[in-house]
Amino acid sequence: MVSVPVKMDDGRVKVFSGYRVQHNQMLGPFKGGIRYHHLVDLSEVAALASLMTFKNSLLNLPLGGAKGGVQVDPNKLSKAELENLTRRFTSEIAPFIGPDRDIPAPDVGTDSQTMAWMLDTYSLESGFSQTGVVTGKPVEIGGSLGREAATGLGVIYATEKALEKIGKRISDATIAVQGFGKVGMYASIEGYAKGAKVVAVSDVSGALYDPKGINIAELSRYVRERKMIKDFPEVQHISNEELLYLDVDVLAPCALEGVIHAGNAKNVKAKVIVEGANGPTTREADEVLASKGCVVVPDILANGGGVVVSYFEWVQDISWLFWSEDEVRSKLREVIYKAFDKVWQFADTHKVHMRSAAMASSLLRLERAMKLRGQAW
Ligand code: GLU
Repeated sequence: MVSVPVKMDDGRVKVFSGYRVQHNQMLGPFKGGIRYHHLVDLSEVAALASLMTFKNSLLNLPLGGAKGGVQVDPNKLSKAELENLTRRFTSEIAPFIGPDRDIPAPDVGTDSQTMAWMLDTYSLESGFSQTGVVTGKPVEIGGSLGREAATGLGVIYATEKALEKIGKRISDATIAVQGFGKVGMYASIEGYAKGAKVVAVSDVSGALYDPKGINIAELSRYVRERKMIKDFPEVQHISNEELLYLDVDVLAPCALEGVIHAGNAKNVKAKVIVEGANGPTTREADEVLASKGCVVVPDILANGGGVVVSYFEWVQDISWLFWSEDEVRSKLREVIYKAFDKVWQFADTHKVHMRSAAMASSLLRLERAMKLRGQAW
C-alpha cells in the first residue's frame, strides 16, 4: 500500500491511497491491470489479483497474477492532475514492478495514456527505455496492434463458442451489453461486425434499446465525441436495470463486479451470460442462473482477451519484433477457442458448471507447476 501525494491544479496537495497486490508468481512474472476508481480498496485489489492468477493459468500464459489501483474518481481530475498522480504512483511501486517482475496494464478507469506515463516514469528512473514494463501502451511507443479491442474481441470469440453449444450462430443472435466502455464498446463493435443484433447497451448515463438492433458504428462515433451514450437518437431509452432483464440470447456484463446478484438474478432471461467484466455475477446469483439452465461463461475465460494480447505485446517488446493486427487477432482467437473447449470438456466430464470447470482446470495447472518447483525452505 502506498500514499500518493498529488499537486492539484489549485496548488493544494491531495493524498490518494494506491495499491499493488502480487498474488502468485509460480507460472511467470506477475501480471495484471491498474484500476482508478473511487471504490478501490485493498480487499478489492487482492480479489482481482487472485482472479488474474487463475485467468493467466487457465489461458496457458507464462504469467502470474497481480492487480493494482488507486482510490480516485479519474473523471474528477484534470489531465495534468491524472499525470501527476500516475507518475507519483509509478515511482512508489517502481521497486516492485519491471519487465521480468511485474507488468501492469490498463483496467477500469485507466487507458493507454496512463500506461505511457507509467512507462516514461519507470524508464526515467532506470535511465533507458523500458517498453516491456507495462502493456496496453500506445502503438507508437511499443504497444501492440489490436490490444485496445482485445478484451471485447475475446468476449465475442467466447460468445461464438457458447452460442454454438446452444445451436445458434452469432449472426442470428441478439445481444445486450452492460457497460459501453473499453470492453463493452469493442464487444459491441465486433459482435455487430459479425452480424449480431446488439439490441441494448448501457453506461453510467443510462441504457438504450432497439429490438431491431442498434447501429453500433454510429453509436461508437457518437460516444467518441460525446463520451456518454445518453441522448443517442432514434432508440428507446430504458433503465440500466431493465437492460439486465431483456429476453436476449446473450447478456454481456462488461463493467464492474456484482451487477447480477441474489436480488435480481431470477429476472435475467438471457440464455447465455458472457462475463466481460471481472466478477459481475455473485456466487448466489450463479446458483440461481444455473438452476434456470443459463450458460455462464466465466470472467477468467470470457474477458481473457485483454491479458492474452498483453502477453503478445510483452513478447513483441522483449523481442523487438512487431506483428500485424491480423496475426494478433488470429492468435487471440486460437487461445480463447482452445481455453473454451478445455473448460467445456472439463464441465462435461465432471458434470459441473463452466465457472467451476474454469477454476478447476486453472488450479490443476498451478498445482502441477507448484509441485514441480517443490518447496522452498
Ligand atoms: N485489466 C485486464 C484484466 O483484468 C488486463 C490485464 C493485463 O492485460 O495485464 O484482465
